[in-house]
Amino acid sequence: MNRPKRMLLENIAWARETAHADAQFFPRLAQGQSPKVLWIGCSDSRVPAETITNANPGDLFVHRNIANLFSPSDDNTMSVLEYAVRVLKVDHVIVCGHYGCGGVRASLLPLSSDLPHVNRHIAPLCALGARHREELDAFAELDARANRLAELNVLEQVRLLRHTSIVRDRDEPPLVHGWIFGLHDGHIKVLASGYDDARDTQGGAHLTSASLETV
Ligand SMILES: [Zn+2]
Repeated sequence: MNRPKRMLLENIAWARETAHADAQFFPRLAQGQSPKVLWIGCSDSRVPAETITNANPGDLFVHRNIANLFSPSDDNTMSVLEYAVRVLKVDHVIVCGHYGCGGVRASLLPLSSDLPHVNRHIAPLCALGARHREELDAFAELDARANRLAELNVLEQVRLLRHTSIVRDRDEPPLVHGWIFGLHDGHIKVLASGYDDARDTQGGAHLTSASLETV
């Protein structure tokens, strides 16, 4: 059996099982969505937002791209953010990166001439890596450098999101969080908590969320 056919059969099985377990599931789904969370994650097939957080259809509004980048000049990303914040009125925006990220790793290597779109997309990562070159060079292994850059990348996307007018200008701005997922154990580590940022803002303190505390 070819793969698409197998996927369609799995869909039939899933729809039947889901309706059997909860007869109101699909009628509820059809009424509309009111997710509380916008998830910005990597396209990597091993980091599916709903699976790793045990979420259901309707729980997460999702945007994924290579290396979970938030780019204010990209209408794809910005339209998702705009709709999530202004129409769906999400309470939380979560940027979730992951260790072992191929996109982050690629930004530390010579760019491939076969991948002009990828190269343009990860250009901000290359720049971020250059800004943190001294810290990254302290790691002997490329994989360790890439993992540290993956953390710095999440924090950078959080910073950009918190400063964008779509987030900042809402009466009650959504909290922006930065997480990173470990492929080896399936656990998520919190790099930046939106709750800490809200406290800092209320207290008038300068934002210093570059800490890597697990909360
Ligand atoms: Zn990735």
